Amino acid sequence: MKKVFNKILVFSIILLISFSFIGCVKSIPDPTITTSESIKNVILIIGDGMGFNHLNNAKTYFELENLVFEDDYLCSVNTSSKSIGTTDSAAAATAMATGVNVYNKRIGMNGSKTLTNIMEIAISKNKKTGIITTDNLYGATPASFSSHTKKRSNYEDIIIDQANSNINLFVGQNSSKYTEYRSQFESNGYNMCYSLDELNSKKDSTKIVANIPNLKSIYNTNESNQTNFNLIAEYALDFLDNENGFVLMIECAHIDKFSHDNNLLSALFEVRTLIDIANTVYDFAFNRNDTAILITADHETGGLKAAKTKNDISNKLYTKSSHSSNNVPLFAYNCSFENVKEEVKNTFIFDICNNIVNH
Ligand SMILES: [Zn+2]
Repeated sequence: MKKVFNKILVFSIILLISFSFIGCVKSIPDPTITTSESIKNVILIIGDGMGFNHLNNAKTYFELENLVFEDDYLCSVNTSSKSIGTTDSAAAATAMATGVNVYNKRIGMNGSKTLTNIMEIAISKNKKTGIITTDNLYGATPASFSSHTKKRSNYEDIIIDQANSNINLFVGQNSSKYTEYRSQFESNGYNMCYSLDELNSKKDSTKIVANIPNLKSIYNTNESNQTNFNLIAEYALDFLDNENGFVLMIECAHIDKFSHDNNLLSALFEVRTLIDIANTVYDFAFNRNDTAILITADHETGGLKAAKTKNDISNKLYTKSSHSSNNVPLFAYNCSFENVKEEVKNTFIFDICNNIVNH
C-alpha cells in the first residue's frame, strides 16, 4: 500500500512539475515593440516556403558573403496553424495579415468571423497599400492580405473582395480571371495593366491591378522573357511613397512551388530574386528614417538541409516534397524591441505591422 502511495506521490510531483514547466513556457510574453514613432512605412517581404537553409544554400550557391538583411535577424517564427500537421499558405498568411491563428485553407476568416487585415487598418489610417506577388493575385498569400473567404479555392469571392478593397496597387502573375472581372475593378476606379511598360505609363493612377506574364526569376535560364520582379518592387516603392506612409507586401511565391518539386536550383534562383528585392528595399529605406522592413516566410517547404560547399548543392538536400513544421527566420530593419526571445508565433508579424500603422 505504501509503495502504491509513493508511486502516486512521485507521479503527481512529475505531473505538477511538467504543468508548471508548460505554464512557464506559455507565459513568456512576446517582445515589447518599441519602434520609433517616425516609422510610417512598412514593407513585408514573404518568401513562400523559404526556410533558413533556402537562404544558407542560396548564399553558398551564389557565393554571397553577407546579405543586406542578415544583421537584422530577430528570431525564428513558429508557423503552426490551428490544423493538425503543418500549416498551409492560407492559414500562415492570415496569421501574418490579421494576427489570428486559424485553420488551414481560411483566407482572412476565423470560422465564420471576418478578420480585419493590416491593409484595411492601413487604409483607415489614410496610408497607401500595395500587394505584389509572383503568384496569381488570388493565390493564398496575396488573398489573405486583401480578402475574406472560408476556402482558398473560392477565387470568385477573393477577386470580388479585391475589387472592393481600395488597395492601391495589385501586381501578380497574369490570369484571365482578372479580365473577367475587369468591369468590377474599373467601376471601383482601378486601371488594369498587363505589362511593366503599361504600369509605367499609368504611374499617376490612384489604383492599379496588373497581371504580368512570366514573373519567374531572371536567373532561371530554363525560362525566357521573364519580367524582372525586382523592377516591379522598385515600381511599387515609387508608386506608394507618400507623406502618410504605406504598407507593401511583397511575395516571392515560387520558392515554395519549386521546393514542392524538389527542384533546388530553380528554388535558389527565386531566393536570389528575393535577395535582389531586399537590396532594392534597403536602398530605399537607408536614406530615410521612416521605413521598416520585415523579411520572413509563411512556412518552410521541403525540409531542406544545408550544403557544406557549392558542390553539395543538389536536389538530394530535400527531405520531403511538402511543407515542414520547421521554424522560419524573421529579419526586422528599423524596428526595435525589448525582451526579444528565440521564437515568436507568426501572429507577431501582424503585431509589428499594426504597431507601426497605428503610430
Ligand atoms: Zn506550398
